[in-house]
Amino acid sequence: MFNKLTILSYTIKGGASMRKYFNKKTGNVRSVYCNLCGKEIHMENGIITEGVFFANQNWGYFSNKDGQADSFDLCEECYDSIIKNFVIPIESTTVKEYI
Ligand SMILES: [Zn+2]
Repeated sequence: MFNKLTILSYTIKGGASMRKYFNKKTGNVRSVYCNLCGKEIHMENGIITEGVFFANQNWGYFSNKDGQADSFDLCEECYDSIIKNFVIPIESTTVKEYI
């Protein structure tokens, strides 16, 4: 039996990205989906207009995934649901916005 997370992880292993691009070489993103729940992240004119957590990991020599690059996006709700289960709370600080 597959739950939502299992189905999405098979999709990712199959090579489907949860980011769709107008032009991948320029990084011009058309749409972004949360890898955990599958929700489409709201965008306007190519700009993400809601909270999203982007993770990018290049695995190194001492891992079991040497040379593998992983990335995913989480909507803010999924991010909150994951970090609330951490045994050690995340480090969180307030940053100033520079415009
Ligand atoms: Zn989500």
